[in-house]
Amino acid sequence: MTDETAEPDERGDARPPRQEQEEATTDIGEVAPGILRLQLPVALPGLGHVNCYALEDERGFALVDPGLPGDAPWAALIDRLDRAGIALRHVHTVVVTHSHHDHFGAAERLHDETSADIVAHEAFRLMWEEAEMTANEDSSSLELTDDEILERMKERFRWTTPWGTKRTPPPDDVMRMFLSGGRGGRLFPTPEPTIRVADRAPVRLGRREWVSVHTPGHTRDHLCLYDPEGGVMLSGDHILPTITPHISGYFPEADPLALFFDSLDRMTRFEGVTITLPAHGHPFADLAGRAEAIAEHHHERLDLIRASVDEIGEGSVVDFMQRLFRPRSWGEMAESETFAHLVHLRATGDIEQRESDGVALFSAP
Ligand SMILES: [Zn+2]
Repeated sequence: MTDETAEPDERGDARPPRQEQEEATTDIGEVAPGILRLQLPVALPGLGHVNCYALEDERGFALVDPGLPGDAPWAALIDRLDRAGIALRHVHTVVVTHSHHDHFGAAERLHDETSADIVAHEAFRLMWEEAEMTANEDSSSLELTDDEILERMKERFRWTTPWGTKRTPPPDDVMRMFLSGGRGGRLFPTPEPTIRVADRAPVRLGRREWVSVHTPGHTRDHLCLYDPEGGVMLSGDHILPTITPHISGYFPEADPLALFFDSLDRMTRFEGVTITLPAHGHPFADLAGRAEAIAEHHHERLDLIRASVDEIGEGSVVDFMQRLFRPRSWGEMAESETFAHLVHLRATGDIEQRESDGVALFSAP
């Protein structure tokens, strides 16, 4: 499952290279007092690294978003910890900002090896659990051959999207990569948070009194941490410096874009944030300005859909996707993002939806 944050390209001019695409360097930077930035390699669409922040206190270290599952990412994490002078046994807490595998991947292994607590939002849940993929979980899969496990997992990926197109499983090599970190035919070592925090809960880590900020949109369980005294925001994928996070249409009942707009608006109302630490790209100063720019990007996309409705009359998600995105971005992620926007316009009364042979069709009301 690579439902991750690469922003599908807009139509229009070529885009400049994005910070989030830069390859991970081995540099260790102190980005705020007592907070180190470790860059871990990831190779996902639009992403070259994930930032793992190490927060030091009298008990040792907390790590925020420790990177992908699997042996190679684990080796990279150990390398960066080594360069930062952090002994693995001194890691006492892992914070996971949201339920995407480039963020939670190493959490369970850290928990196994150091008994570290795993902190996440109380809604933390993996997408494929919600999509009933574990409903078929079967302990007998432990006795299956690798190929049988692969086929079984691929079967779980063949479902119909909420907008009526059939999903296809990822290629075998990607599936094998997923499976390599898992146990007994599970996709990943699924982290089970030991500390689930509600919105506005206090989180004491790294000699700072953080406040948890639930920011649904990119995922429903996305968590930011705000330090009012130090003026620091750990923003995860909610606010990234030069790309906009993917908004998935997989759970349309929630109007994910409306949730995201609320979560963006909230970012403009925190006093005294002087540095924002994103999960990809470089730290930046203007949190409110960046949140407003991301909201504007989605409003432009909504305008484009409204204009498209006038032109094409009734259309499927694929029809609207082709108006919003360049051909090289067409595919399930662009469809999902388009659907999230259509669902929002349906909720605001700008468009109507009907079904025809299981396919969602949209038109002017
Ligand atoms: Zn991410």
